[in-house]
Amino acid sequence: MRFNILDAVNDLKVKISNAEKLSINEMSRQLVSTGFKCIRCGECCRARSGDNTVILFPDEIRLIIDTYGMTPNEVCEPSIPQFIDERGILHCFEWVLKRHSSGDCIFIQADNTCRIYQQRPWICSTYPFFLGFTNGAAKPDIMVSECKGVGRQINNDDALKLAKLLKGRLLAEITEEIRLLENLEGFEDWEPTRFYSSKGHHGYTIAVHDSSGMTYITD
Ligand code: SF4
Repeated sequence: MRFNILDAVNDLKVKISNAEKLSINEMSRQLVSTGFKCIRCGECCRARSGDNTVILFPDEIRLIIDTYGMTPNEVCEPSIPQFIDERGILHCFEWVLKRHSSGDCIFIQADNTCRIYQQRPWICSTYPFFLGFTNGAAKPDIMVSECKGVGRQINNDDALKLAKLLKGRLLAEITEEIRLLENLEGFEDWEPTRFYSSKGHHGYTIAVHDSSGMTYITD
């Protein structure tokens, strides 16, 4: 299916306007009814439980780099490329948190604590919940990923905090996507034709696009 930037940006602007109308109190009530308490099992950070990909916004990458004195290469890597251009350059549109060769997040520690807990990415601080527009719905719904903490009692204050984080995360995600698309040059109307696994880009140059521009990485 062809991808048209103008259509995509217009669609995202509708989504952001609907997301802004979300009621924190209503979301908080839903979270209380679903229930959640993190039991520090560390499963969501490890590969053995399935997809533990953590997508990062440029601001989150900078925050981790500045707080923990790390280099960009130590913190993140390109996500799966979605396009190869006529020069043989792969293009992708997200950064993801670095993982060990085992697939586990580089920040998970033996006692299941997170080494960057205070600055952990938005996805991590809202897991296992996220807001999604299902089947073209105009209004986003709270979705729940698999997690042993779901169903446990959550108090009103924690539910309110989580609801605010969820709404903030969705608004940040849509804003990032709009900025990314508005900065994107040469992709006004294109077709993602080839997909590659997240591994095996040796010898390729990867262009990673985000809201702050484009970075070339040679694998
Ligand atoms: S950053 Fe922390 S919370 Fe997020 S996946 Fe890694 S260890 Fe888990």
